Amino acid sequence: MPTTRDYYEILSVERTADGEEIKRAYRRLALKYHPDRNPDDPEAESKFKEAAEAYEILSDDAKRKVYDQFGHDGLRRGGGPATHDFSRMDATDIFSMFEEIFGGGRGGFGGQRAGRPRAARGYDLETEVTLDLADVAHGVERDVEFTRLDICEKCTGTGAKPGTKPQTCPTCAGQGKVAQQGLGGMFRMVTACPHCRGRGTIVKDPCETCRGKGRVPKKRKLTVKVPPGVHDGQAVRISGEGEPPAPDASPDGQGARGDLHVVVRVKEHTLFERDGDNLLVELPISFTQAALGAEVEVPTIEGRRPLKIHPGAQHGEIYKLDGEGLPNLRSGRKGDLVTLIKIEIPKKLSTKQQEILRDFAATEDHSVLPESHGFWKKMKDLFGG
Ligand SMILES: [Zn+2]
Ligand SMILES: [Zn+2]
Repeated sequence: MPTTRDYYEILSVERTADGEEIKRAYRRLALKYHPDRNPDDPEAESKFKEAAEAYEILSDDAKRKVYDQFGHDGLRRGGGPATHDFSRMDATDIFSMFEEIFGGGRGGFGGQRAGRPRAARGYDLETEVTLDLADVAHGVERDVEFTRLDICEKCTGTGAKPGTKPQTCPTCAGQGKVAQQGLGGMFRMVTACPHCRGRGTIVKDPCETCRGKGRVPKKRKLTVKVPPGVHDGQAVRISGEGEPPAPDASPDGQGARGDLHVVVRVKEHTLFERDGDNLLVELPISFTQAALGAEVEVPTIEGRRPLKIHPGAQHGEIYKLDGEGLPNLRSGRKGDLVTLIKIEIPKKLSTKQQEILRDFAATEDHSVLPESHGFWKKMKDLFGG
């Protein structure tokens, strides 16, 4: 059954997400729930399929439009028939889609299609770190732990039981490719050997540790250095910490590992809102502080800073503290802290405070306040009197 869950929810993206964001979200999920990395885990497999389904729809402008307007029903009905029944889609279908996004690495067919051999390269991996704004301000080192498919030590990646060797594939005689006559012999088509999947060798006696795959999931721990000024969603690339090339892509075991992308998530702060390199903070002050002026304290990333509120400060007024924002990722130059004044009117007054305020009110000359002067004049023009 295709999923009934919201596609945006599955990918955890906003409905306004652009193609890049959708791709990135899918990549993250696909890598996380990849069957190779979660052997015999039906839940991971269904999540993997669900993500693939959501990606297929949301990455296609036409299908996405139908989905946005009519939901799942729209895709099933006339609006554009759902192209795949994902429950019947086998791993190879998903992998072919997967390769389009990941640039291939598995199989090496991409290179053959383009007519030139390409150096085998393993999958890139992705993991996440979550930082708070103080980490962003100073930069931080974090340990990350992730699982990657690695060369099986037992069989040194051949997939063959120790003491045995992979045999030359009889179908392609070790070439990994077979030629077929196309269109009544008009041309020859060279495709990957279906028997050995392009490897050129066949494992008769599979290694028990990796079940003949030559690769096993392994945990890896690294320290990643996140530079100051990083933004949510940006990634730090650690080259060569991804996976080794798949055995079918690299029968001789040669080729480069993929990279590890450490995607940075920045936690929301309870006080500060980030706006590029600037920080915004709302500063509540009392109406007496606003009226009389005051010396107050403003929170910054580095601690408290004194701030002089001038007498007659208004609600919504802005005080800028230069250089108290976050460093720019490239230049290192610091942004500002933008302090927004929020005047609070007391909800409850003591009897004494009421008395004082009444006395104050008696002294007030409403007509001199410029704002209210204009207001009352307009009122008079409207209703007379
Ligand atoms: Zn093995
Ligand atoms: Zn073969």
